[in-house]
Amino acid sequence: MYLIELYKSVQGESSFAGLPCVFVRLAGCNLRCSWCDSEYTFQGGYRQTSEEVEAAIEKLAPVRLVEFTGGEPMLQERELVPLMERLLQRGYELMLETSGERPLAAVPRAVHKIVDVKCPGSGEGASFHLPNLAALTSADEVKFVLSNRRDYEFARDFLRAHSLETLAGNVLFSPAFTKTPSPERSAENCLLDPRQLVDWMLEDGLAARLSLQIHKFVWAPATKGV
Ligand code: SF4
Repeated sequence: MYLIELYKSVQGESSFAGLPCVFVRLAGCNLRCSWCDSEYTFQGGYRQTSEEVEAAIEKLAPVRLVEFTGGEPMLQERELVPLMERLLQRGYELMLETSGERPLAAVPRAVHKIVDVKCPGSGEGASFHLPNLAALTSADEVKFVLSNRRDYEFARDFLRAHSLETLAGNVLFSPAFTKTPSPERSAENCLLDPRQLVDWMLEDGLAARLSLQIHKFVWAPATKGV
């Protein structure tokens, strides 16, 4: 497997936000989102066997929540899925952060999938693999990263068209961050003002959860490895 970094911190997003978590950031991505904050994952990375990754995770005990992220982790599905199966057998709780473009049917059902649906403002708005909706469980989360009103309307209409209300509070509406944030831990760095987003969500009565990337408010937004 090709990794960029492996570290422990607190989970910054999703319904797991704030919990201690091991992050395994895999190299490579086949998308190019306009606001991507992980471009350093596009190339390079260091090679480790899945057994070496498993041992590195173990060294970060007692944390038992592990997120596979990237880049796009499912580009390394052939080694990733068996690793996830082994970790589940050993009692780890797993999360998978994915762009939603790769098929997810092979991901073990016990893994909490955080699945993006890319909005038009990302420049990758047509990338979602629609059959992935059938692979979702009530423990999964669907995330829309929003940079403007057009993105919001896209996400609202997608949510309604595909009955994502059944995922209850597991639909995340997350304001995109600028690629050139100030060092301030401030909502001023969001491309879409969270207050504006809340107003729209309440006006439309959406069954969605406002999701802020809390690591960008705990540390300076450009900090890596946190
Ligand atoms: S899918 Fe994720 S890593 Fe890939 S370009 Fe988009 S934001 Fe960046």
